[in-house]
Amino acid sequence: MNEPYESGEAGQFGGAGEGSEFDLENRLVAPDYVPEDGEVENPLRPKTLSEYIGQEKAKENLAVFIEAARQRKESLDHVLLYGPPGLGKTTLAGVIANELGVNLRVTSGPAIEKPGDLAALLTNLGPGDVLFIDEIHRLSRSVEEILYPAMEDYAIDIITGKGQMAASYHLPLPHFTLVGATTRAGQISAPLRDRFGVVLRLELYTPEELARIVTRSAKILGIAIEQDGALEIASRSRGTPRIANRMLKRVRDFAQLMTGGVITYESAKLGLDRLEIDELGLDANDRRMLTAMIRFYNGGPVGLETLAAAIGEEAVTLEDVYEPYLMQIGFLSRTPRGRCVTKAAYEHLGLQAPGDGDAAQQSLFRS
Ligand code: ADP
Repeated sequence: MNEPYESGEAGQFGGAGEGSEFDLENRLVAPDYVPEDGEVENPLRPKTLSEYIGQEKAKENLAVFIEAARQRKESLDHVLLYGPPGLGKTTLAGVIANELGVNLRVTSGPAIEKPGDLAALLTNLGPGDVLFIDEIHRLSRSVEEILYPAMEDYAIDIITGKGQMAASYHLPLPHFTLVGATTRAGQISAPLRDRFGVVLRLELYTPEELARIVTRSAKILGIAIEQDGALEIASRSRGTPRIANRMLKRVRDFAQLMTGGVITYESAKLGLDRLEIDELGLDANDRRMLTAMIRFYNGGPVGLETLAAAIGEEAVTLEDVYEPYLMQIGFLSRTPRGRCVTKAAYEHLGLQAPGDGDAAQQSLFRS
């Protein structure tokens, strides 16, 4: 847990009496997986490409590669998926395995601590199987080095013992497909990136796509929902299916008490208002971050690290979780000198933007 506002700029922000309670652990709109998501996510994961909503470009390409591999009776080329959390990378790995008719093994970069852990995983794969490594940018260098020959030559070299007792074994592996996922494509080492034949970027979803996802999820969970209700949830879900599904679950409770169990526009709106998610999907944390930028840094430019310290959050979380959506809706811009709040964000917060022009540009000239 972060301890915000202990010192320095953090104190500055906290001392401004601007409500210093950043509830970072219970954030409804955080796209990161929390264990509570599991119970609802597992039955909701699409199993086939046709059930997988949106991401048309990625799906079109994958459909061709999967069909070609199937016809040639070969394993699919290794696939790297990148994009913010909660967009369906794990789900897509499952879809790929299912479409290929092979097994899926799921692990993550931090879970593979030693080269031996990876060797054990690899030697247990069957022909054509899909190995999914989430957060692949967090693999250690020594583990990565085992992965290179495994990906390229389908073999690993294992050294056992030390000194005179050392022995080296060359172990052939079945042809498998590695699906790697990352939120930070820039942090993947070049040799690892080069070994992926297919690199796909997942995009934030449109409200219409999210409304289809919400409607599908509601059907699976046996929740009655009207189209307006689905769209209201969708438009507050920050382009992220994980958040949309989570909101659906919360709004169901409001609908049960208010509108006879049917999620209507009214019950969705009231539920989400009560949860302090505004009509654009911003929660109190987003609003406080933007307000801090405006109050203490004149709307920017402010450096990532400075901003992170000011709101008691890690810089990577700002980059992965807060920024993609705020940039997508045009509330934040990145400049070489730091982050800037845009005029649209001032307006949304009911604050006066400095001058008539773009706030970001204005503050660039000012400093
Ligand atoms: P990531 O691995 O990118 O963090 P997940 O694959 O775990 O995201 O997806 C989170 C949840 O969102 C899943 O439970 C899944 O039900 C839902 N989901 C993601 N993408 C889609 C999609 N394209 N269509 C329908 N549901 C989706």
